[in-house]
Order: sequence, then structure tokens, then C-alpha cells
Amino acid sequence: MPDPAVVTRFAPSPTGHLHKGHAYAALKAYHFAKEQGGKFLLRIEDIDFNRCSSDNTHQILEDLAWLGLEWEEPVRIQSEHLQEYAQVAGQLEEQGVLYPCFCTRKDILREIEEAGRAPHGSEGPLYPGTCRRISEDERISKIGAGDSYSLRLNLEKAIASVGVNSSGPDLTWTDTVQGTQQAKPEKLGDVVLVRKDIGTSYHLAVVIDDGIQEVTDVVRGVDLFDSTHIHCVIQALLGLPTPRYHHHELLTDAGGRRLAKRDQAITLKSLRDSGTSVQELKKELGYLE
Ligand code: GLU
Repeated sequence: MPDPAVVTRFAPSPTGHLHKGHAYAALKAYHFAKEQGGKFLLRIEDIDFNRCSSDNTHQILEDLAWLGLEWEEPVRIQSEHLQEYAQVAGQLEEQGVLYPCFCTRKDILREIEEAGRAPHGSEGPLYPGTCRRISEDERISKIGAGDSYSLRLNLEKAIASVGVNSSGPDLTWTDTVQGTQQAKPEKLGDVVLVRKDIGTSYHLAVVIDDGIQEVTDVVRGVDLFDSTHIHCVIQALLGLPTPRYHHHELLTDAGGRRLAKRDQAITLKSLRDSGTSVQELKKELGYLE
């Protein structure tokens, strides 16, 4: 039965032009909302100002309009909400579930090498917890000396604080493709929630925005499946509802490789410029009305 309360979103990062894989993902989220009589939102995830540009954002809007998508206004532009992310990070700090991390990438790699073994998560080796273990005095002296730091989630404290333990309630989330999932946030470990350079992070901003925008159904690629294990912990910490998730397969090229932004030949703009019609593209993607 249709559910007009459904709200989906497409949330591209303007680090380049959209390609067929993005068109597929956007169409999936759009059609899911439309089939339910619900709302489709567009969000521009441009917090990483080193990699994003407003030219790419304009191109994204043009490409999605070419695809025939219509979205609710205003479009949420993450870079316009940095204050909100900082405020929520402050709230999490007060909850005692964040800690400053002074490590550089090099420090982390060295530490892992020295330890001779490193638990691996889906995003590579997990943070070995170096700064979680430093004394309060050292922490204060480093901050006093002006050392720059990110803020990491203390997963152990976070889990204890949301009351999930062997005797407590389970933290679960629903994936409509793979079924009910028991949260396994240890797959990502003590993730960075506030980056040194941009003052927030993907994990923090995405959870806050899905909450603020009252997204009921997150339709996104299966490459983000493991992130959801952390997102539901952050949602629990912030008292936000966990949406339903639909992690769909990713489009691959003829050689079975995942489509990537670096492959200029398949951008929507280049397809359009070389005369491909939107009908042809939608047909190829299985979305011809
Ligand atoms: N901005 C992310 C990306 O472009 C997607 C985030 C999400 O759907 O949660 O990969």
C-alpha cells in the first residue's frame, strides 16, 4: 500500500560530474518516493571544501533536471549548515562520547605497523585507539600547545551510553534488501566525527541531515552499507529515529569494475553532449516510463 509519509533523498557530493551510476541511484530514490506518493529531496554534500566545487553543484542540478527529476525546495546544501554540525558535535562531547585525536595519517600507519597487526574494517585498518589511551594531562597539554586535533567517537562509551550490551537491548536496523541487521559498529571502530580541516565529517553530517529532513527511507549504494552500522549508533546517541535503508547494487562497466567519477567518458554531461537521449539512458537503466 502506498505510504505518502515516505521521504527519500539523493545526496551527491559535488567532487566531480555525475555518471550513470549516480543516475541509477537518483532514479531509484526518486521512483521509490513517487511510487509511495511521498517526497523526494535533494541534498548537496559539499562539506569537504578541498574536493567540492559550486561548478560541480550546478552541473549536478542540470543533470538531474535533464533526467526529469523534481525535488522539494530548498535543496539542503551542507556547507551552509556547519554551525549546526558543530553544535551537535558539542552535544556529543558533553555526553562524553568523543575524544580528541592528534594523530596524523602517518602516525596511525606507523602505530599499526609497530603493533604488527591491525584489525581491519570495511574502510581499511581500524584506528588503533592511540589518543583514546593518552592521559588527561597529556591531552590538556597538547590542546594548550595548539596541536590540531579531530574528534573521534569513543565507540565503547557510545555503546554503553545507548544501553546496548550483552544484557541490554539490541541495536538493529532494517535493510530492505538484506533484512534486519544487528548493528556491528566495530566494523568501523572509533570513526572521526569532527575532522581537523572541515569541522564535521560525512558520518556526522549525514545523520544530522537525515534527522532534520525527516528522511524515512535512505536509498543508497551498497558501498555505504557498513557506514549504517555506525550511523544507527549516532542516531541513538542523538535520540533520532533510524530510517529504513535500501542499499542497492552498484552499476559496473563491461569489465565488472564499479563506475567511478574519474572515468570521464561516462558522465551524464558527456553522454548528453554526444547525443544520448534521456530516454535511451533511462531504458538502459531500466527506468523507462
Ligand atoms: N554523499 C555521499 C556520496 O556521494 C552519499 C551519502 C549517502 O547517501 O548517505 O557518496
